Amino acid sequence: MASQTGAIVQQSLHALMGDPAFLPQLRGELREQSFQSLAAILSTPNKVHKAFLRIALGGGNVVRIPAFRIQHNDALGPYKGGIRFHETVNEDEVTNLAALMTLKNALHEVPFGGGKGGVVINPRSYSEKELYLICKKYVQYFSDVLGPDKDIPAPDMGTGEREMDWMMAEYKNINPGSPYLGSFTGKSIVSGGSLGRREATGKGVYFTFRYMLHDFLKEHSGSLSGSDNPFAKTALSYAGKPMSVAVQGFGNVGSVAALEAYKCSALRNRVVAVSDRNVTLYNEEGLDIPALLAFAAANKGDLPTSPETLEEIGLKARVLGREDVLYLGVDVLFLAALEDQIRADNVAEVKARIIVEGANAPITGEADAALAESGTIIIPDILANAGGVIVSYFEWLQGRETQFYTEEEIYKLLFAKMQKTMNGILPAYFGDPLPLRQNCYVHAVMKLSSVLYRQGKLY
Ligand code: NAD
Repeated sequence: MASQTGAIVQQSLHALMGDPAFLPQLRGELREQSFQSLAAILSTPNKVHKAFLRIALGGGNVVRIPAFRIQHNDALGPYKGGIRFHETVNEDEVTNLAALMTLKNALHEVPFGGGKGGVVINPRSYSEKELYLICKKYVQYFSDVLGPDKDIPAPDMGTGEREMDWMMAEYKNINPGSPYLGSFTGKSIVSGGSLGRREATGKGVYFTFRYMLHDFLKEHSGSLSGSDNPFAKTALSYAGKPMSVAVQGFGNVGSVAALEAYKCSALRNRVVAVSDRNVTLYNEEGLDIPALLAFAAANKGDLPTSPETLEEIGLKARVLGREDVLYLGVDVLFLAALEDQIRADNVAEVKARIIVEGANAPITGEADAALAESGTIIIPDILANAGGVIVSYFEWLQGRETQFYTEEEIYKLLFAKMQKTMNGILPAYFGDPLPLRQNCYVHAVMKLSSVLYRQGKLY
């Protein structure tokens, strides 16, 4: 488990061990041993599967592509987590992301464990046929460990509905006669996917922000005013005020979060900047997000990169460097691209007072501590970007029943689930000086520890 996730899990266990009200049945030496067992279980994956996928490329060359499926913990249900296609994928990264899935599902009471997959490729360098072969081979190599009641992958960076449809079809070929709709989530609607799944993560990311800074704050502003809590002070300083927003990443998560922010009538936001792998676009008056979405849809997901293109399509924005999005003088920054974007070496340049993690682990441990110290509100990945896995759970349920919900029903269920989690966390967050990430981890670790204890896994 990478350092930040592992360190916060250990801190959470330490705090819980010192709390006599938590698992009071465990006393003295038994308590110590049980918490050591918990630390060992949560800091290591149950199983690491690695393969080299043999692919015959279009030109005739045969290559061997490294691929992973890492199953972290299944105490709460079948392993669940995305498959990432990216050239920087490696075992440590996938292991850390799998652990994060275990914690995320525990936090939101989704009855799944944590897993993650990865293939070390830049998908843009392969033809559609080659990608199809890679997806088929992935399922063939890992077929023994995947399945609706064992381990259910979903899309992640570099994969989407197309890849999930291909993978589910291969799972069906390998397992004739077995139920297959629940083997992969994030599928297209025609292949048994759920309405709203594609937008779920981005919508959930925006919902956590809106709920905390608007609905919850409105309801609790009386009890919070005058509070010494640094995060409550930051939140209250924005109460009722329009906020400027920047979004890093304009893919599945970032583009949907940007559109939600643009459309939100409860908060009068101005989305002043969006960015992707090439550029940052900035307009102090606010960007035309629907027009940028239409451009990206027609241009392989990329934003316009030159003033000439912007002029051609009638969009007003300044073209800045890719990293500039992080350092703008905005109120809110959504991070929806990659890991490790805010680090010890650049944290001092970040001006946003509210940061929402759409991506997994976009802030390193040192930067996280520095931001918390200054009262910056960070809505962490484990809380903010769970919309995808929550709607994946609804997709899995729908696949079992072959009964499908409407889009409206899906969003209602999604927001209700996220709101329930937040209502369990926010009073403690605004009540004591522990950052939100730590609060979320304590909740998740409590849930996992109780289940592991009840299932006799601690001795
Ligand atoms: P995506 O591939 O659809 O989009 C990624 C975006 O990031 C693109 O706009 C890309 O141009 C941009 N980008 C790539 N490299 C960049 C760089 N160096 N600097 C700035 N921008 C860069 O991916 P996604 O599905 O939107 O996922 C984004 C993040 O959210 C990932 O960390 C992923 O693990 C996490 N996440 C995704 C989901 C989901 O349901 N898709 C769920 C939970 C978490």
